[in-house]
Amino acid sequence: MREIVVKSVLNKKKKRDSWFLDEYTLNPYEGCSFNCVYCYVRGSKYGTNIEEVLAVKSNALEVLERQLAFRAKKNQFGIIALASATDPYIPQEEDHRMTRGFLELILKFRFPVLIITKSTMVLRDAAILQQIANEAILPEDLKEKVAGAVISFSISTLDEKLAKRLEPGAPSPKQRLQTMQSLRQKGLTAGLNCIPMLPFISDTENEMENMVIAAKEHNASYILMGGLTLFGDNPGDSKPRYYKFLNESYPHLVSEYKKLYRIFPMPRKEYTSQIDQKVKQLCSKHGVPNQIAHA
Ligand code: SF4
Repeated sequence: MREIVVKSVLNKKKKRDSWFLDEYTLNPYEGCSFNCVYCYVRGSKYGTNIEEVLAVKSNALEVLERQLAFRAKKNQFGIIALASATDPYIPQEEDHRMTRGFLELILKFRFPVLIITKSTMVLRDAAILQQIANEAILPEDLKEKVAGAVISFSISTLDEKLAKRLEPGAPSPKQRLQTMQSLRQKGLTAGLNCIPMLPFISDTENEMENMVIAAKEHNASYILMGGLTLFGDNPGDSKPRYYKFLNESYPHLVSEYKKLYRIFPMPRKEYTSQIDQKVKQLCSKHGVPNQIAHA
């Protein structure tokens, strides 16, 4: 894998994310070997295959140590999302152990962390995540609401065949659910983010209810559900890549998508409000929280 040298690795957001509650993002790798068709980080910078441009940030540990020490000294504790533009547990993590190194520093400086992954490898770090959960300093207004360590598993469909086409490098949805359940058995807060749900494919009432039921059956602490964004017009961007997939697999849906994504990268407002309502109903029917919470 390529090595790159970075000046900064911990990014401070302008404001806290309303869904994931993170105030910082942290990425150990550039590119991602899971190579999902809908990946929003796709862009001309990365080309069509984000696996081929993979790079490890070789000096990231020393940079992170410096940045965390600075933020801790100023008492600027906030949830760090690990990661936002790659999966922190791509197979290369087994050798490079960059995510592991990040977690050791996060523990040392007592920051809270949110892991976002599709991988089973997160189980390797269950013990250190438990330590972070016990020792992290959360912002005052989150202290009673969330744990110091949260693990969120991304799932777009429960259909194993479809998942293989959409997320060719990632472990199966079933493996993700089982890993989440194992972390819950170890007392960690872990849930699902069904983002993106794919319009007319995995957002039907039936599919959505099955996801909420799967969350419940695997003891999820929460489930988040949200729509698909389609960016860009360059061949490597997510929009043309996704339309290529639609043309090959669901040609009858292309015109529906064109109506839904007329101008903006996000679906039309009416669609989003309908989905939000459905999520609320289903979560309340099955007793699964639809926001990140202690559990
Ligand atoms: S796992 Fe996440 S970062 Fe990696 S390709 Fe898929 S959507 Fe992109």
